[in-house]
Amino acid sequence: MDLHDPHAELRAAQDKVHRLRADFPILNRPLTYGGKARTLVYLDNANTTQKPQIVLDTLMGYYQNSNANVARAIHSLGEESTRIFEGARDRVKTFLNAAHREEIIFTKGTTEAINLVALTFCDGLSAGDEILLTEMEHHANLVPWQMAAARYGLTLKFIPFDDNGVLQIEKLPELWTDRIRLVAVTAMSNVLGTINPLAEIIAFAHARNVPVLVDGAQAVPHQKIDVQELDCDFLAFSSHKMCGPTGFGVLYGKKDLLEKLPPYQGGGNMIRSVWLETFDTNVIPYKFEAGTPHMEGAAGLAAAIDYLETVGLDWIHRYEQLLLAYTMEKLVLVPGVTVYGNAPGKGGIISFLVNGIHAHDLSEYLDRKGVAVRAGHHCAHPLARRLGVVSTARASFYFYNTIEDADAFVEAVREAVDKL
Ligand code: PLP
Repeated sequence: MDLHDPHAELRAAQDKVHRLRADFPILNRPLTYGGKARTLVYLDNANTTQKPQIVLDTLMGYYQNSNANVARAIHSLGEESTRIFEGARDRVKTFLNAAHREEIIFTKGTTEAINLVALTFCDGLSAGDEILLTEMEHHANLVPWQMAAARYGLTLKFIPFDDNGVLQIEKLPELWTDRIRLVAVTAMSNVLGTINPLAEIIAFAHARNVPVLVDGAQAVPHQKIDVQELDCDFLAFSSHKMCGPTGFGVLYGKKDLLEKLPPYQGGGNMIRSVWLETFDTNVIPYKFEAGTPHMEGAAGLAAAIDYLETVGLDWIHRYEQLLLAYTMEKLVLVPGVTVYGNAPGKGGIISFLVNGIHAHDLSEYLDRKGVAVRAGHHCAHPLARRLGVVSTARASFYFYNTIEDADAFVEAVREAVDKL
């Protein structure tokens, strides 16, 4: 390692990254644009991540060998499928270091997990009660609360962020009232990349006996989260953003809180006994898992977690920060580039615009070079309004992105500035 090279650690990691890339078939697929061969530079990881072969094999293997409905059939295959499904719950429990396996509820993703809490938790509130959010939330951690607020007469309050995209938690005392019943905050902004000071927010809320829901969609895939250490009351995340299958996700909730909530959806599995006029509710987690679940989704997420833990979540976090620093150093040299979100220690997300070029034109130009980024409001309209923009282009990293990917991205932006 060259100690005088500020990017020596990043360069030293490239062998490992190239080895990992070989696990992802899609990263090696050929692409052509206008008859020209291109290498895929996939920088839309905050949107969804690619899947390693072991996850693909697990999904196929589930259908080839073990497919049967869970918790219903008294036959060997049904028992095997149930073992796989409930085994995935144990896997998620250890991954998060949850205290109890019943605290792991399977959902179809972060969005459903937050809707579940918004509908059930707010059912017990009174008109005039308040929910505290932030101004940087994804619509998934905003609209469900707006819907609950309209239904139950609640008020929503918001912690603002400053021009660097840093959450202004020093405003917590002035925003706080004794009507606040829940705080719901993203662990990491999907637009700004800001990693929020969860420990401080949770300590502040808990000192006032108020629970905290964490939207972990952008954090759980990229850093180690220990729910007991963090002491969050709810945590939501999606499998597809962490190398797992789509349409599957997790709500973690503390046992005593989950037990107090009413059921979410009605149907099979969430009941113990049913009469024509009424039903007895099942115990957690089944109380919140009505209907046939996404069995292969659970198997695939467990395989993805095994994979990510082998790669190392601390390593992933460190590597993405190194790649972000390297890319930013080069990107800011491109004339006319504005980056939105410069919070210290932010995660591997770069939202940006180039003078006068619409984000969609920019991303279309990058796409022709094989560089996949996202353009739009990133499901965070209020955040975009706060930034004073309609849309931005967004490059987002995962551990399989290389220095070559970063270089190709910056070079494509530079060319776009010249050509558009
Ligand atoms: N929260 C954040 C911060 C996100 O970035 C996303 C998706 O991009 C979501 C929630 C919603 O996730 P999903 O669409 O997987 O439910």
